[in-house]
Amino acid sequence: LNKRAAELLKAPARTGDGVPIKVLVNVNEISEIDDLSPEICDGIGLTRTEFLFSGGAPEEARQYEVYRRLLAWAEGRPVTIRTLDAGGDKPLAGITVDGESNPFLGVRGVRLSLKRREIFITQLRALARAASLGPLKVMVPMVSVPEEMVAVRQLLRQAVAALHAEGVTAREPALGMMVEVPAAALMADRFAADFYSIGSNDLIQYTMAVARDVAGLGHLTAGDNPAVMELIRRTVAAGRARGVEVSLCGDMASRPEYAAPLLAAGLTTFSVAPAAVGRIKLAISEARALGAEARAG
Ligand code: PEP
Ligand code: MG
Repeated sequence: LNKRAAELLKAPARTGDGVPIKVLVNVNEISEIDDLSPEICDGIGLTRTEFLFSGGAPEEARQYEVYRRLLAWAEGRPVTIRTLDAGGDKPLAGITVDGESNPFLGVRGVRLSLKRREIFITQLRALARAASLGPLKVMVPMVSVPEEMVAVRQLLRQAVAALHAEGVTAREPALGMMVEVPAAALMADRFAADFYSIGSNDLIQYTMAVARDVAGLGHLTAGDNPAVMELIRRTVAAGRARGVEVSLCGDMASRPEYAAPLLAAGLTTFSVAPAAVGRIKLAISEARALGAEARAG
């Protein structure tokens, strides 16, 4: 980390023209927070909960304990927890469907959760219980059509009602969605989401028809490809029109070279790998935000 990035680490991010930008962190494993100070960020923008499921579906109590720890670590900052995103590049023995000819286009993310209701409801119950402890936000992966968000919200409300009927403290958290399928980016304003977070890894893969693990096609997978940037701009515009937050939590947010184009697209919230916070704050400080008139409109 160079000296300037180190200085910027604990300060809130600002563009060169003085616009405040939120920088949150992505968490892939609970152990990652052990040596991390919450003071370097504005909260957790993505928790990939797959780590909890590596030994099979975890019990509600174990999940609740992990979600509680994340909230305690964040000291009042928002904590975004994504529901299970199994399938595709994240197969889970005994949970995901075997033998799909193309798992990236198969039963993954929310599609799987809506089929494996017992696993999903357990996770929603743990999340609703943890939501009573602090500013927890729930994020749904791989959403393609508005009906999926309607179904998830209904299950979440039912989980809260069931907990209350059992005398268990619980609260309905904000419910947002990943925008990582082009259909969702194109139609973002039609989805009943309390916030959007752009998953550029999958959005690039599905827009450019290049699998995220393919080597040698780098010229097709640059984040600033005009088609990808257009989908990002549309998502930012949908969030602004609906008055909800739009963040970007894919790897693109952690790459300093994309800070300027993302700010120019109107993005004001980045969620990045913990190790990237300093260099992203530096890149933001050297870039300009989208013009004030465009932001207000
Ligand atoms: C993404 O697709 O950009 C994303 C953040 O989710 P994941 O990398 O976990 O698929
Ligand atoms: Mg993804």
